[in-house]
Amino acid sequence: MHDVHIIGGGLAGSEAAWQLAQRGARVRLSEMRGCGEMTPAHQTDGLAELVCSNSFRSDDDTKNAVGLLHHEMRALDSLVMRAGEVARVPAGSAMAVDRDVFSAEVEKALSQHPNVTVVRERVDTLPEAGLTIVATGPLTAEALAGSIVRATGSERLAFFDAIAPIIHHESIDMSKCWIQSRWNKTTSASNEGGDYINCPMTKEQYVGFHKGLVEGDKTEFKQWEKDTPYFDGCMPIEVMADRGVETLRYGPMKGVGLDNPFDTSHEFPQGRWPYAVVQLRQDNKLGTLWNMVGFQTKLKYAAQIGLSRTIPGLEHAGSARLGGLHRNTFLNSPQVLDRQLRLKAAPHIRFAGQVTGCEGYVESSSIGLVAGMMAAAELAGHEWQSLPATTALGALLSHITGDAEAATFQPMNVNFGLFPPLHEVGKKVRKEAYTDRGKADLARWIAETREAVPT
Ligand SMILES: Cc1cc2nc3c(=O)[nH]c(=O)nc-3n(C[C@H](O)[C@H](O)[C@H](O)COP(=O)(O)OP(=O)(O)OC[C@H]3O[C@@H](n4cnc5c(N)ncnc54)[C@H](O)[C@@H]3O)c2cc1C
Repeated sequence: MHDVHIIGGGLAGSEAAWQLAQRGARVRLSEMRGCGEMTPAHQTDGLAELVCSNSFRSDDDTKNAVGLLHHEMRALDSLVMRAGEVARVPAGSAMAVDRDVFSAEVEKALSQHPNVTVVRERVDTLPEAGLTIVATGPLTAEALAGSIVRATGSERLAFFDAIAPIIHHESIDMSKCWIQSRWNKTTSASNEGGDYINCPMTKEQYVGFHKGLVEGDKTEFKQWEKDTPYFDGCMPIEVMADRGVETLRYGPMKGVGLDNPFDTSHEFPQGRWPYAVVQLRQDNKLGTLWNMVGFQTKLKYAAQIGLSRTIPGLEHAGSARLGGLHRNTFLNSPQVLDRQLRLKAAPHIRFAGQVTGCEGYVESSSIGLVAGMMAAAELAGHEWQSLPATTALGALLSHITGDAEAATFQPMNVNFGLFPPLHEVGKKVRKEAYTDRGKADLARWIAETREAVPT
């Protein structure tokens, strides 16, 4: 007998199981590794296996968003953070772990817990009834992915996810760029001035940029990635650039219909169309994050950073996320999940972890943590009190459950661009102010909701 069925014993599923079990709920944790199944990236049968790097990134909770997330998870008695401390290896201000010790610690805590039953089985369909948390990750097994597709009405979930860089608005030099939609056609009545930030390029700048794209260092495909199709409309920019120097000027970088106010003359009082343009589109409701339109890329990170610095207006751009390309399975969460991570079409099912469209070990675990807490509250008949959007957990959760633009939704790391802005605080101390505010608001939320804190 169990109260909640968790599918997937990775980072998010293990964390959700712990949170529920610690609150007295009986959990069945189904993990397919260990019954003869494997994903293309995992190497062991251990719960919470880290598939690539061994880093939980920055542990600095005074001025770093992921460090703040660590702090909040510790305050909420995270199993991933507990096991991470035991398995910790030296890594400066980052938190890195011995992956085998880490996985063994998680496995020990769950298999010895009286409220958890770990079952090695592959689940192929979404349960029709009973509280369920699906945490099957970016490499969800095919049959279950099909079942999720049917339940969400999506066309498909797994594809090569070619993602474009996302830029912090405050780092864009608006003295060189302007806001306008092509032909002044805005998509929203409230955006009278236009929907896009336009970074104009001269011919010389464009030719140099094109050369950088074609010659830049690119990530190679892994063998198992080779059969997965590109997501329609997500062709990497360097693949387009390879087709000829003019291809991009007739594609995402075309300048037609855009009046450059920095290039006016008697003949063009409103401004000439630029030779080429890089456009950025708003990526979150706060307007703090902007997505480089059509710039999904396989370029290595250093090459991406170097190249983006050659774009007028982006010379000092700070990115919330760089571009990349890998197989990923994730929901269009802003569209299909409610604010409590429940499938709108089948509210007995919650999703957690990377499959919800967060990105990274820590983020995936944190969404598992919050899904476990939400399910425990539901089971106990308590009303869920929303987490403040000023906390890292609350900001990430708000983003994936509704604040991100559904039409362009892509996996996201936690970053300060997701937080309600603090314009009144000077730039130099803004990160410290974000973390101070987040910590204070979480402490208040814990006190008000009497949520579990470590003893
Ligand atoms: C190749 C690759 C490399 C990555 N590298 C990094 C990195 O270096 N750093 C980082 O921060 N993030 C990285 N990520 C992103 C992400 O943070 C991790 O994938 C993370 O493990 C996600 O946590 P999760 O719990 O959502 O999924 P997972 O940890 O993958 O857990 C999902 C679990 O569900 C199981 N499962 C799947 N389908 C079924 C089923 N039908 N029935 C039962 N069980 C099932 C799987 O076996 C797995 O154990 C990487 C992702 C990939 C794909």
